[in-house]
Amino acid sequence: MRTQVGIIGAGPAGLLLSRLLALQGIDSVVLENRSRAYVEARIRAGILEQHTVDTLTEAGVGDRLRREGLEHHGIYLQYPGTRHKLDFPALCGRTVWVYGQTEVTKDLITTQLAGGPPLLFEVSDVIPEDVDTDSPRIRFTDADGNAQVLECDAIAGTDGFHGVSRPVVQQAGGRVWERTYPYAWLGILADVAPSTDELIYAWHPDGFALHSMRSPSVSRLYLQVSPGEQIEDWSDDRIWDNLATRFALDGWELCTGTVTDKSVLPMRSFVSAPMRRGRLFLAGDAAHIVPPTGAKGLNLAVADVTLLAAALVRLLREQRSDLVDSYSDRALARVWRCTHFSWFMTSMLHTSGDAFDAELQLSQLRRVCSSEAAARELAENYTGLPLDV
Ligand SMILES: Cc1cc2nc3c(=O)[nH]c(=O)nc-3n(C[C@H](O)[C@H](O)[C@H](O)COP(=O)(O)OP(=O)(O)OC[C@H]3O[C@@H](n4cnc5c(N)ncnc54)[C@H](O)[C@@H]3O)c2cc1C
Repeated sequence: MRTQVGIIGAGPAGLLLSRLLALQGIDSVVLENRSRAYVEARIRAGILEQHTVDTLTEAGVGDRLRREGLEHHGIYLQYPGTRHKLDFPALCGRTVWVYGQTEVTKDLITTQLAGGPPLLFEVSDVIPEDVDTDSPRIRFTDADGNAQVLECDAIAGTDGFHGVSRPVVQQAGGRVWERTYPYAWLGILADVAPSTDELIYAWHPDGFALHSMRSPSVSRLYLQVSPGEQIEDWSDDRIWDNLATRFALDGWELCTGTVTDKSVLPMRSFVSAPMRRGRLFLAGDAAHIVPPTGAKGLNLAVADVTLLAAALVRLLREQRSDLVDSYSDRALARVWRCTHFSWFMTSMLHTSGDAFDAELQLSQLRRVCSSEAAARELAENYTGLPLDV
């Protein structure tokens, strides 16, 4: 088999990259080791920055998002006795959208399978080879068990945190930065209308809580828990009781409903540099992980592939390597900005039991809720800084 760009991984990064390349007349093949049903059912992120919405729309996969997504004009920051709205359009002229990553993925897969580039599910033994040459290849076994070789001009490693691409880049030398936070999130999906018009980020002495949503009838809620927490120890009643305590505010009530999904998520910051070795380019979670408090993981994946698509088009259509040569540095500049913002939100909102830290956090929250400059800084980062392609 032969293509211009071999793409490993059909998460949002790989699928969108394939779409952006196709729109510019560049061929690709996407290799995914899971089944279509598994990929489409994975519950993950749900907040889309303005640039993500714009990119999906321009790529022709934004119709359902515009129809069914919910545009949000701000968030609430809460600490005991106070719930304060940050008004994003007033602060920075931008908004965010609530639309599940599952739905973004379904839209991209549907478009791809309707006449787009090949997308092969349930492949195995995927190995990128000869990435230091201009003719790299990907060895893999297809879903029928046949050994295959995909000859390429370039390879995109969009295979997530546990993929095979990052180790190949790191073998040639590189650096990794990592921080594991001493807490985790217990997340639930529930069949109940959101009890709020905007997301609530709540600081509470018992720990952080987040009230998010997926649709007018489905809520997504999170509790800060310790990393070793077993999900079996959390009955639905215990979860709802803890959520009600942490969101408590006079005159407001949390509506409860049937829990349809629950899991414990680790909280980690991770950056791997460079994001390139020869003709192998990393994008998305393959190169970096952020804790979900800043809602950046999916948006960073979209930003990476937007840069990468433009760079690969220039390389493969015009034989000019300037944009691929600067890709890693340009992507990493945004990665570190988002890594800082995600760390800032995480550090401001999660309690450690330390009384001094708690006073610093409350001081920072009061600052953001009372200073337009501090609020604008948060709003600009949350809604996403403009992307300079
Ligand atoms: C459990 C969980 C919850 C999350 N919740 C949030 C959230 O609430 N908010 C937020 O902003 N972000 C969240 N994130 C982060 C966000 O979902 C990711 O940043 C986003 O999925 C990144 O997209 P990606 O395409 O780079 O990687 P992925 O979505 O991980 O896609 C990688 C793809 O590569 C495939 N793959 C892996 N190895 C191979 C291989 N060897 N061969 C072929 N294919 C391979 C995988 O099956 C997968 O389909 C969450 C992440 C996780 C894991």
